Amino acid sequence: MSTGDFVNGVTLRNRGLPNSHRLQTYVDTGGYVALRKVLQEAMSPDQIIAELKTSALRGRGGAGFPTGLKWSFMPKGVSGMKYLLCNADEGEPGTCKDRDIMRYDPHRMIEGMIIAAYAMGARVGYIFIRGEFIEPIRIVEGALAEAYQNGFLGERILGSDFSFDLYVHRGAGAYICGEETALMEALEGKKGQPRFKPPFPASYGLYGQPTTINNVETFASVPDIIVHGGQWFLELGKPNNGGTKIFSVTGHVQKPGNYEVPMGTPFRDLLAMAGGLRPGRTLKAVIPGGTSTPMVSGAQMMEVTMDYDSLAKAGSALGAGSVIVIDDSVCIVKVVERISRFYMHESCGQCTPCREGMGWLWRVMHRIEQGQGRESDLDLLENVGSRIEGRTICALADGGVAPVVSSLRLFREEYLYHVQHGRCMVGGSPGVRRVA
Ligand code: SF4
Repeated sequence: MSTGDFVNGVTLRNRGLPNSHRLQTYVDTGGYVALRKVLQEAMSPDQIIAELKTSALRGRGGAGFPTGLKWSFMPKGVSGMKYLLCNADEGEPGTCKDRDIMRYDPHRMIEGMIIAAYAMGARVGYIFIRGEFIEPIRIVEGALAEAYQNGFLGERILGSDFSFDLYVHRGAGAYICGEETALMEALEGKKGQPRFKPPFPASYGLYGQPTTINNVETFASVPDIIVHGGQWFLELGKPNNGGTKIFSVTGHVQKPGNYEVPMGTPFRDLLAMAGGLRPGRTLKAVIPGGTSTPMVSGAQMMEVTMDYDSLAKAGSALGAGSVIVIDDSVCIVKVVERISRFYMHESCGQCTPCREGMGWLWRVMHRIEQGQGRESDLDLLENVGSRIEGRTICALADGGVAPVVSSLRLFREEYLYHVQHGRCMVGGSPGVRRVA
C-alpha cells in the first residue's frame, strides 16, 4: 500500500463514522473478529506473539520498543497475578492522538488489550487515562460496559476458559506518570515517581507482580495484525518499522490534526497533508516526536521519512509522533525557553541532576531570552546539559536537555544575536517579543 492510495488507516479507520465509539459500529465494521479468531480458533499465546514479532509493531508511546519482544518477556507458568496496563496518559506536548482513538474507536483499543492479556496470561488490566480527558474517560467507560454486557470482558470470555477484567483509572495530571514505572506507583496510590530499573516490569511491575504496559495506539494496532497477519502489517510500513502511525501535526501548518500514514512516509508528504506552511513562510525547524526529541532543521526534515530508523539517523527520534512544525516567523530561543520551563516544572525531583539541572537550564535560557545573557551562557548550557544526560533514573531529564542542545547546534547564531543585541533576531510577526 503506497502513501498515495492510503485512505482509511488502521487505528483511526472508523473516525468519522456515525456512532463510531459504539460497540455495534465496531462489530459492523469487523470488530471483535480478531478476538473470536484467538479464542474460538484456539490461537496459542505463542502464535499471537509470533505474529506480533513478524509485524514489526513497535511501541507507539515513544520508546519504539518491539511489541512482540516485550510480550515475550512476560514469565510463563506463574501462579500469581499478572497485570496488563494501557498507558493513556498522553502528556507529551504536541501529542493528541490517543485521545482520538479513545473518543472515536475505544473498542479497538479494548479488543487489543483483551488479546494481549490472553497472550500473556494477565487476569486484570487497567487503562490509566489522563484525568483531564473527561470525554475520552466517559466514552471508554461506556465501551467497557458494552464489552462486559456482550461477553467480551469478564468471566469465560465468549465461552472460553479465558477471563479478564479491565478498569479505568484516572491520572492526576503529572507528565511523569506517562513513564511506565511512575504510572505503576500512581496506580498503587503512591506519589507518581519512576522506579530504578532493573527490575523491569515484566518481572516486578504493578504490586510487585509481572506486568506489561503498552500505549493506546499500540493496543489499537493489534486486532488487524491478528485478522490479516503480521506480514500484512509489516508490509504497510517498512522493514523494522511495521504498519501505520498517527502523527499529530501541530504548529505552523494550515490544517493541524492527526494524520495516520504508513511508516516511512516522507515528511514532505505529511506536511502537504496538513495543508503545508502558511503563505509566504519557510520551514525553519521541526520537532518530530514531541518536545523531548531533538529539533531537526527544516532543510534536513524535507529529506527525512517518518519512521523510527530514519529519524534516529537524522539525529532525532519518532517519539510519540508529535510533529511540531516551526516556520521562520518564530524565535527559536523563545520556543526553547518555553519548553525548558515545562521540564523544570514536571521534574519529579528524585534525581539531583534533573531536579537542579532542569531549573538551571531554564534560568539560563530565560536570561538569554530576556536579553540579559552572556556569550559564555551558550557553553554553560551545553555544559549543564552534558552533566545531566545519562545520569538520572528516567528519560525526562534527557528529554529536557534535547531541545536545548539540538537548537544550540542548529541555531547558535540566534542565541548569539539575543546575547549581543538583547532581542530576537526574528521580528515583525505578532507574538514575537522584543527586548530593548
Ligand atoms: Fe524524576 Fe527527573 Fe529523576 Fe525522572 S530524571 S526520576 S523526572 S528527577
